[in-house]
Amino acid sequence: MSDQAYCGPLSPALQRLGQYLDRFNEGEQGDAGMRRLQWRAALQRSLPQSGIGLDKVLQELGEQVIPNGSAVPLPGFTSFITTGATNMGVLASLAAMVASPQRIGLTAFQQLEELSLNWLVELFHLPAEMKGVYSSGGSTANLLALGAARQRAFELRGHDCGRDGVPPGGRIFATAASHRTIHRAAAVLGMGRESVLTVKTDQTGRMCPRDLALHIERVLQADLIPVAIVANAGSTSTGAIDPLQAIAQVADRFDLWLHVDGAYGLPGILDERVRPLYTGIDRADSVVVDSHKWLGAPVGIGATLVKDRSLLLRAFTQGASDYLEGSFAEGLDSLPDSADGFVHSLDSMGIPYSDFGVELSSPARGAVVWALLREIGAAGMAARIRRHNDMARSLAEQVEAHPRLELLQAPTLSICCFRYRVEACDDLNALNRQLHRRLIHRGKNLPSTAMIDGQLAIRPCFIGARTDWVQVDDLLQDVVSTGDALWAELVAAQTK
Ligand SMILES: *Cc1c(COP(=O)(O)O)cnc(C)c1O
Repeated sequence: MSDQAYCGPLSPALQRLGQYLDRFNEGEQGDAGMRRLQWRAALQRSLPQSGIGLDKVLQELGEQVIPNGSAVPLPGFTSFITTGATNMGVLASLAAMVASPQRIGLTAFQQLEELSLNWLVELFHLPAEMKGVYSSGGSTANLLALGAARQRAFELRGHDCGRDGVPPGGRIFATAASHRTIHRAAAVLGMGRESVLTVKTDQTGRMCPRDLALHIERVLQADLIPVAIVANAGSTSTGAIDPLQAIAQVADRFDLWLHVDGAYGLPGILDERVRPLYTGIDRADSVVVDSHKWLGAPVGIGATLVKDRSLLLRAFTQGASDYLEGSFAEGLDSLPDSADGFVHSLDSMGIPYSDFGVELSSPARGAVVWALLREIGAAGMAARIRRHNDMARSLAEQVEAHPRLELLQAPTLSICCFRYRVEACDDLNALNRQLHRRLIHRGKNLPSTAMIDGQLAIRPCFIGARTDWVQVDDLLQDVVSTGDALWAELVAAQTK
């Protein structure tokens, strides 16, 4: 048996892999959960003592693993905000994996890292001075942004948290509609989940600026330390956008860091009909967006954009290391272009992204975002966002026109929250919960559910590049016919 992994030409294997993946994308295989016992038994082997070689592993991958993959990339999947990657995203991601396993060094990949971050700033109408760093997704992107906020809040009080640790008393202001990754970020940053205070919202889940100001005043009176306001630009449940302008005024009044979580909803700014709702976002000190959501990148790509990247550096730098000592040439950071031909890509680390976040080794993610934007341009991206927003609006209109459907929240972006409703039913939450399970088991339309003011909503989020208009009609019909059948069964069971 050879101890060598096969490292010869890649393209024949890629062609085979492509065929397996194309078959998966056709979606004819049905859901993995339905035949779970089969693939579990086939895959549950003991540690192989000797290998079977690339060809046979590729075959197992193609026949047993890929067809039993996730429902997330299906066109009818509207549950989470993650979705299947577009082909361009997959290809660029693979290219980066092979040709630039790191983002450090003077390479084309590193240039695209910075260029694509700057493109995101421009694309989303953010202030030109904003700079960024990529990380694995919204969770980490929020963590980095709040790390910068924490660094600033304590530096203003003469304390360097990155160097010396975190004194108690930091507080973050968010709403119940905020993503729970905010609470986890607070925990990782040494402030604790309980440091996130819950500001009131209006009926549509938008932050109440007056209550925000009250919370901040109370924190100051108690000699605690306001660290950041976290506003949503597209909440996960309903897509609500907080009143950013009014919140920014509160942030200004207290000289407080404003963070905008746009992991899902920042690209909504490309739809000029909802763009006014983002007014005030230029005041944000930090903004995050998940490229692996609306932009269609493969999962594992989020961006943190900040006005002052040196705060990220002070919060997250590793400090000097013996293992890199002397590895790079000195003074190459301001290299004149005329020096072309005299430098090696390893003469400099280039932009020290690994000190702006929590990852040292990292995929070169910028090439993926660059490729997505090169493929369809800002106009193509805007058209996709508008289409998905239109789909949610159209669904809402049809729901309102239907006698047995009820709209629970008018869409702001591409999420529509509604439910099946018959007057005689005294537990609509239970009815809609059962209805939803049946939809999922049928496997064609896969929305999630969300609680809106104690009412269980069916919650489709239209976000996938492969999700198109046919899914709107399909979902509507599926909900009505499933609801009708379920209600008829319940009535029959009661009268028996
Ligand atoms: C999805 C999401 C997150 C978390 O992002 P991940 O990429 O899943 O880590 C954070 N905030 C909001 C508003 C989100 O929609």
